[in-house]
Amino acid sequence: MNRRTLLQQLAVGAAALASSPFAQRTAAAEAVAAKANQGSGRLRITRVRPILTAPQSGVRLVVVKVETSEPGLYGLGCATFNQRAVVVKTAVEEFLDPFCRGRDADNIEDLWQAAYTSSYWRNGPVLNNALSGLDQALWDIKGKRAGMPVYQLLGGKARFAVPCYSHAGGRDIPQLLDSVQKIQAEGYRHIRIQLGGYGSPQLAGKGDYEEAGFGIPAEGHMDPAAYCRAVPKMFAAVREKLGEELLLLHDIHERIAPIDAIRLCKDVEPYRPFFIEDPFSPEDVGWFKILRSQTSVPIAMGELFNSPHEWTGIITERLIDFIRVHISQIGGLTPARKLAALAEAFNVRSAWHGPLDVSPVGHAANAHLDLAIWNFGIQEAVRFSDAMREVFPGAPTMKNGYMHVNEAPGWGVDLDETAAKKFPLPDRPGYWEPVRRRDGTAVRP
Ligand code: MG
Repeated sequence: MNRRTLLQQLAVGAAALASSPFAQRTAAAEAVAAKANQGSGRLRITRVRPILTAPQSGVRLVVVKVETSEPGLYGLGCATFNQRAVVVKTAVEEFLDPFCRGRDADNIEDLWQAAYTSSYWRNGPVLNNALSGLDQALWDIKGKRAGMPVYQLLGGKARFAVPCYSHAGGRDIPQLLDSVQKIQAEGYRHIRIQLGGYGSPQLAGKGDYEEAGFGIPAEGHMDPAAYCRAVPKMFAAVREKLGEELLLLHDIHERIAPIDAIRLCKDVEPYRPFFIEDPFSPEDVGWFKILRSQTSVPIAMGELFNSPHEWTGIITERLIDFIRVHISQIGGLTPARKLAALAEAFNVRSAWHGPLDVSPVGHAANAHLDLAIWNFGIQEAVRFSDAMREVFPGAPTMKNGYMHVNEAPGWGVDLDETAAKKFPLPDRPGYWEPVRRRDGTAVRP
């Protein structure tokens, strides 16, 4: 066989091999491997940056945008800490951004662990919020790459939508009853009732400290005794006028002495509250055992928690019924889903903190987790203004007492940066203003 004939035969053989089923399968496998390789190893973080905006009620929202090496692919995460927004901004710009650039956007757990310990000292609210911004943005990216909403990545829906409670309040009982009925008419079954604000400062009158020129006028005054007398009467009035079916909640907001909180829980027990929230400050969690031995009132706790050291004991000892952390304050979805799994083992339910100082991205994160976990308890409802929806297209919606998420991949929430610029942060820094007792002593929330 001459050289030319050999080459011709080899060419025919190669063509036959290339068109064989084996070759086609091999090529397909290579394409899948190339794609997978691109997915698992090549998507790099190119920038992590904070976006600050205040479209509703002057609340200082911080959202972190994580940009990647794939043009147009980015994620959003909530890092909102209204009282220290610009400190979170600094943490993101000066520390997280340089730490993350060039790292693999796909490895969420690894990035979370590495960033968490990158400060050595950890579990504080500023760094946890910055970390949450990164973490939730990476879950958003993961969902976009998978073409799925994040709740699908967590196992899919355990319920069709997210049942919520809404806030009713008034200066007096008639005003409160009116407020409860308006919320009932919107379709809510779970309603939180407060008389005269947290700790009922509107019942307190003027503090002696004000006469003495102690403190400044912007601060509030509460009278723990007046508050403790008013709350059982409030429950009695709502039950008497509006019946037994409503699921009633109340927030003590940590403002009274621990033993007063225990007596108050016992006083409201006959009115069967759905839960009583935050009877103690985080520093007083040792009182839960005493509370638990005295009453079967369901307890929600944890919106001020930052660290696993704060929740692990009270969950594993079955001292609370609802864990109520603010998800960005504990570092994002990654720690929150682990917390939910821990709580499930002890049949402690979720009630993630969800007021207006959570961005729509953060509310979406709450709701996606709510949809996917078995031990969901209740979610705090939110009402977004038109301005908020303009800045955050795709934000969750409320209907008949349920929260619904946008089904687009990731969180389903975007951020219009041009619109966000129309709503700069208020000039003054955000403070949790002190509330004082009659003699001027600052009350600890
Ligand atoms: Mg609260």
